Amino acid sequence: MTKVLTVEDLTISFGTGDSELTVVHKVNFTLEAGKTLALVGESGSGKSVTSLGIMRLLSPSQSRVQGKIVLHSDEDIDLLSLSESRMRRLRGDRIAMIFQEPLTSLNPVYTIGDQIIEAIRSHRRMSKRNARQRAIELIDQVGIPDAEHRLGTYPHELSGGMRQRIMIAIALALEPDILIADEPTTALDVTVQAQILELLNRLQEETGMAMLFITHDFGVVADIADRTIVMYAGEMVEEGSTETVLERPLMPYTSGLMRAVP
Ligand code: ADP
Ligand code: MG
Repeated sequence: MTKVLTVEDLTISFGTGDSELTVVHKVNFTLEAGKTLALVGESGSGKSVTSLGIMRLLSPSQSRVQGKIVLHSDEDIDLLSLSESRMRRLRGDRIAMIFQEPLTSLNPVYTIGDQIIEAIRSHRRMSKRNARQRAIELIDQVGIPDAEHRLGTYPHELSGGMRQRIMIAIALALEPDILIADEPTTALDVTVQAQILELLNRLQEETGMAMLFITHDFGVVADIADRTIVMYAGEMVEEGSTETVLERPLMPYTSGLMRAVP
């Protein structure tokens, strides 16, 4: 196994003094290349804050992030002590992220082609022409037909599932070691959800990236995750292989989540 990220005692709070509120408490896990870890929990359990903390996307004036986040590559990189400029480079390079609603992540006034090409060129030096060619390959890779023609379309011209595919193409443009997916299928209907999960599985096989897959919906973890962590009120209440968590949940809370209709 190749470890790509280690999170140790990650603790995140908002506010200061008397009004300080801890919303993530001593979260521990490792991500391995080619494997998917699911973070599952009810709304408000601290899943998104955990991922934003890892990406260092929480405002330092409003939040406190403690613990250790180490990215393993040729050398170990301690993300919490990295300068903002190095962190920014690393975010556009090693760790990519996709969210629930691609319409708010895509810029409505730029074409799909321009947005993918920009992502490619922010990551590596490439002529416009080669980047355009690469964009066509990426659109094709995420399963959108007629890739060349899509370059000139705008986000609103695509369905929700297609937009999520484009967000995945933009994430792949960075050739990330790690993809953090925060409820990427929650806004989609069930058939499209299944297609996106299938796509993510295929891309993981092709690229060997590690995935952190966040969801409140236990229904999807069996299809995507090797291991599963259950979160409740900012704490990890359960962890194990997805099979074990699904078959032998330790907590009534977990069984409740499994029964909940999303
Ligand atoms: P979820 O598991 O649904 O993704 P979140 O991680 O978004 O939950 O939120 C965890 C808790 O942290 C919630 O109680 C939320 O209200 C709180 N929270 C999230 N962001 C902030 C913020 N910027 N300032 C203060 N509290 C926040
Ligand atoms: Mg969330």
